[in-house]
Formats: sequence, structure tokens, C-alpha cells
Amino acid sequence: MPDTIFDRILRGEVPNHTVYEDEHVLAFLDIGPLAKGHTLVIPKEAKAHLHELSDESAAAIGRALPRICRALIEVTDVDQYNILQNNGARAHQAVFHVHFHIIPKPDAAQGLKVGWPVGTLDHDEASEMAARLRELTQS
Ligand code: AMP
Repeated sequence: MPDTIFDRILRGEVPNHTVYEDEHVLAFLDIGPLAKGHTLVIPKEAKAHLHELSDESAAAIGRALPRICRALIEVTDVDQYNILQNNGARAHQAVFHVHFHIIPKPDAAQGLKVGWPVGTLDHDEASEMAARLRELTQS
């Protein structure tokens, strides 16, 4: 996998404002915050996309996220926030090392703004798709 800015941060070659670190995870403040406290949580494992992560890294991130959110709520005094995790350029991924954004939402003007173009669910199609997905996720 090509080197990214986050690999350089992990190697200590680029400075960052670390807010959390353990054996598998590093979290630091985003350099272009959408709101005060905007934090990135990354696995130390070098993978571009979420679906490529090992169970070990995924579990470690799952443990770390709520803990970091609690700390952010205390420090920013903002208890509403979005978790954003982009995969692929079309999905707005700019850095190809897995990362979760924690973006505080202090008011309507700051933080993440989300477009949500609602469709309708075709229940026959949904039933087939869900069955196929159950097969794949349970194997
Ligand atoms: P994404 O569009 O999900 O790939 O987001 C990449 C994020 O990485 C952006 O929010 C950038 O502001 C952030 N970023 C890029 N370089 C750095 C850096 N050196 N330190 C902290 N955050 C960074």
C-alpha cells in the first residue's frame, strides 16, 4: 500500500496533536477541523479501506471510539457529534489509510453537514439482498 500522511504520523515523522494511543490505535486532532475537537481515529495497521481491516484492529477501534467521544464531550462541552468514515475517492476519502472522524456538532452552522437523498425500499429486492448478505456475513 502506498505511504500516506497518516503512516508518516504513525512513524513520528509528521507532528500531530495526539489525544489517545494504544497498541493498535492512534487518535489525533484533524488539521482542518469542521468544528473544535474534530478528531481522527486510525488503526496502526496500514489498510486503505474499512473492509480490509483485521478483526483485531476493528475491535480496538470499536473500544477506543466511545472512550474518545466521552473525553471530547467533556472537553468541548458539546454532546452531539457525527462519526464519519469514508471509503474510496467517490465517497470523499482523501487519505487512503482507514480513519474515523469524530466531528462535534455544537450548532447548525458548525460540524458536519449531511445530504440525505431518501429513496424507497423495494421489499422483494430487499428480502433477496438481506438473505445473500446474511450468508456472506455469517461465513
Ligand atoms: P477523508 O476525506 O475522510 O480522507 O479525510 C482526511 C482528513 O485528514 C481531512 O479531514 C484532513 O483535514 C485530515 N488531515 C490530512 N492531513 C492531516 C494531518 N497532517 N494532521 C491531521 N489531519 C490531517
